[in-house]
Amino acid sequence: EAKSLGRGQVQIFNDSMQKKMVGAAVLETDIQNGMRNNEFELYYQPIFEIKNNKVKGFEALVRWHHPEKGLVLPNNFITAAEDSGQILQLDLHLLKQAAKQISQWQSEYKTHFTITVNVSSRHFSSLDFVSFIKNLYQIYKLKTGSLCIEITESGLIENLALAKEIIEGLQSLGVRLYLDDFGTGYSALGYLHQLPIHVLKIDKSFIDNLQNDNNPLVDAILSLAKSLKLEVVAEGIETQEQLDILKQTSCNYGQGYLKAKPLRALDAAILIGKNI
Ligand code: C2E
Ligand code: MG
Ligand code: MG
Ligand code: MG
Repeated sequence: EAKSLGRGQVQIFNDSMQKKMVGAAVLETDIQNGMRNNEFELYYQPIFEIKNNKVKGFEALVRWHHPEKGLVLPNNFITAAEDSGQILQLDLHLLKQAAKQISQWQSEYKTHFTITVNVSSRHFSSLDFVSFIKNLYQIYKLKTGSLCIEITESGLIENLALAKEIIEGLQSLGVRLYLDDFGTGYSALGYLHQLPIHVLKIDKSFIDNLQNDNNPLVDAILSLAKSLKLEVVAEGIETQEQLDILKQTSCNYGQGYLKAKPLRALDAAILIGKNI
């Protein structure tokens, strides 16, 4: 009986768990090779002023040109990279790519713009992150505040004091912190005013549900932002109607397919050249 139970357990392990483990191990190797072979490319989605449609900067969003799978979107590998711990290395790899891009655009165009880069909240557990960003600013001669950071709401809670110290370190370089997907996480309103966050990004799900006359949640987020003196970006604006509704509010900035999808650097540069 014990034998058959044992066999049964092995069977379960073989069919599902092992497959998953092998899959994760293959992905881990692929990500490692991908970084070495420069398969990860940042795309740039414009962030624009709601009131006049002017592009103020871009959010950098990674795409993976996988040798066999073709173009792979972040939702298919960011979680795995978080689980394996590779996200730390991948984020630094992409921050460097963004810094290079900014320095190239800075020398080609005289206009001021901001690039925001998404990073894992895991970076907010060591002051090494501040040194890394400081180095990028020095090496690539980045203008104050030209490289900024996006982080999702849920991750910062654990180590508030250290997170605060890290954000203040970044702030001294002019790096502003954007709180991403706001409203979907654990909404730690209690610490929101304790951390030097500069911008809230209202999650797309709220923008999807915008109505002509009644938007209690978006109104609440906007009034919260106002009292904390934060700027606001509305994510995932897809229709003119949504934009028109936002124009009636205090929301400063927007982003979404209505204006542009994430663009390759060469296409984003055209917008910098003619618009900002
Ligand atoms: P996010 O930071 O909230 O980025 C917004 C996502 O919404 C992006 O998906 C963007 O392409 C998409 N989006 C923008 N406007 C619209 C719209 O109008 N309609 C729709 N349907 N979607 C829109 P993407 O590029 O697939 O990225 C997904 C998530 O992956 C990001 O969410 C971010 O959390 C993460 N991510 C992306 N790039 C990086 C990176 O370089 N490092 C890290 N750590 N995470 C990243
Ligand atoms: Mg983001
Ligand atoms: Mg978001
Ligand atoms: Mg997101």
